[in-house]
Amino acid sequence: MTPKKDKIEVSIIVPCYNEAPNIDYLFERLISVLESLKITYEIVCINDGSQDNTLQLLIAHHQKNSAIKILNFSRNFGKEIALTAGLDYTIGDAVIPIDADLQDPPELIIQLINKWREGYDVVYATRRSRQGETWLKQFTAHKFYEIIQRLTPVKIPPNTGDFRLMDRKVVEALKQLPENNRFMKGLFSWVGYKQTSILYDRKPRFKGQTKWNYWQLWNLAIQGITAFSSLPLKIWSYIGISISLISFIYASFLVIRTLVLGIDVPGYASLMVAVLFLGAMQLVSLGILGEYLGRVHDEVKKRPLYLVRESYGFKHHINTGE
Ligand code: UDP
Ligand code: MG
Repeated sequence: MTPKKDKIEVSIIVPCYNEAPNIDYLFERLISVLESLKITYEIVCINDGSQDNTLQLLIAHHQKNSAIKILNFSRNFGKEIALTAGLDYTIGDAVIPIDADLQDPPELIIQLINKWREGYDVVYATRRSRQGETWLKQFTAHKFYEIIQRLTPVKIPPNTGDFRLMDRKVVEALKQLPENNRFMKGLFSWVGYKQTSILYDRKPRFKGQTKWNYWQLWNLAIQGITAFSSLPLKIWSYIGISISLISFIYASFLVIRTLVLGIDVPGYASLMVAVLFLGAMQLVSLGILGEYLGRVHDEVKKRPLYLVRESYGFKHHINTGE
């Protein structure tokens, strides 16, 4: 067993990608909250291939406070992968991922921990409002949650990011999920356990720019849907059956009409419409097949999820990422 003084109660995971302007203020607020709780803690920061001096700042903080630990990725792997690495490396009894840009108020950690102590395994923080985000982003986010909820039986709470508290047993469960395609919001829900939520107002970013453009968000949405639903694949059989049925009825009608009224030459427009419509449907269905097949391809390659260039502050040896 690990000696008592090495026991860590709460681990914080901070994925950082070009977050230099936020680092100082983040630690100031985070540490004052954690110190006020009088618990043992660690803060695992993942430098996800930042091009600015995020790493240097993190190292400076690590030297001042050894509870701050750093994983430096070999390149940018994306937030979902950074979170996965964080889960692999943390050892706390409870684990809380938090954004580096202070959109998730660190003060909320107190409430998360209180709920955890009441006996919940997962306490997620749901956004009551999203400040500093455009109308379009809020609208598309809302639609996404609505659609994914229709497509999958896994209950993914709407307006809930990765900011949540997870008990050690939930983290161990998550670590067992081998997939490369990591849609964390979905995986967090998929594992189940005793879950509850608290509400908060999402603040605007402290400094810097969001790392997501609409193309990346669209891809994240596709990733979420393909990882948690095979309905888009299955639906084509039904669409196919309906169209063949309609075509059969229409064909019978044409044959009978020709027999009764004789050969009728015009019909170019309806022919074109039918051909184009069916062609388009086939391309869409092929595209959807491609989305899934591409993901199968990614999984069978079995590449490690991430590569760590160097780490700071970890005492224990980790074998992960294959
Ligand atoms: N992030 C990351 N890797 C990336 C993109 C983002 O680690 O490739 C981190 C980023 O540093 C921040 C968090 O993920 O701590 C959320 O990113 P961001 O604030 O840009 O997303 P938004 O809040 O706009 O959804
Ligand atoms: Mg943000």
